[in-house]
Amino acid sequence: MKEDGSIHHIFFRYTQVYQKCLFFFLLMLCLFLGGCAKKPVSRMMETTAYCGCSWCCSWERGSWAYLKLDFWNRYVSKGKGAGRSYTGRTASGTYPREPQEGFFSLDSIQRPWVMPFRLIFFPWYFLPEDGTIAADTKYYPFGTRMYIPGYGWGVVEDRGGAINGPNRIDLYFDSHADALQWGRRKLPTSIIKPN
Ligand SMILES: [Zn+2]
Repeated sequence: MKEDGSIHHIFFRYTQVYQKCLFFFLLMLCLFLGGCAKKPVSRMMETTAYCGCSWCCSWERGSWAYLKLDFWNRYVSKGKGAGRSYTGRTASGTYPREPQEGFFSLDSIQRPWVMPFRLIFFPWYFLPEDGTIAADTKYYPFGTRMYIPGYGWGVVEDRGGAINGPNRIDLYFDSHADALQWGRRKLPTSIIKPN
């Protein structure tokens, strides 16, 4: 009797393939979670907030070299780079941003009816993204990830004149009002150094 054509055999083959796929999926999940599970170090950090405005990032419009007539150009107003044109980039060359929770976030769980709107109108927020943190790169090199309660996940991409020592970080916000509202907080921060 040939088994190949029988319905039982096909079903058996199917479950076998299914089990293999499931096993593979679980294996990948374990690897993924295991890979991400580099043990974070916890530390009390004094956190302040900043945004990209002229006051927070020390830039001004127009150069005195052009009698301030080029008011559409931005120049660094303080520090060692004073007078140079201001690019708006971080010390590591990236554009600063606030953390994004991504599509599968607490907000989606609490208000599931917003999920379709999030997908349609904000598809670029589908994946979670780290915010920008300024830190002393002697202690925390670029690429160090941190979790700050109330802010979320951020990555060290920037430096700041007043951000010195292992206990000081500056968190980037999109608006100056949000940065002011954050103020100055001492918080237990989880730190994961880059490999
Ligand atoms: Zn600001």
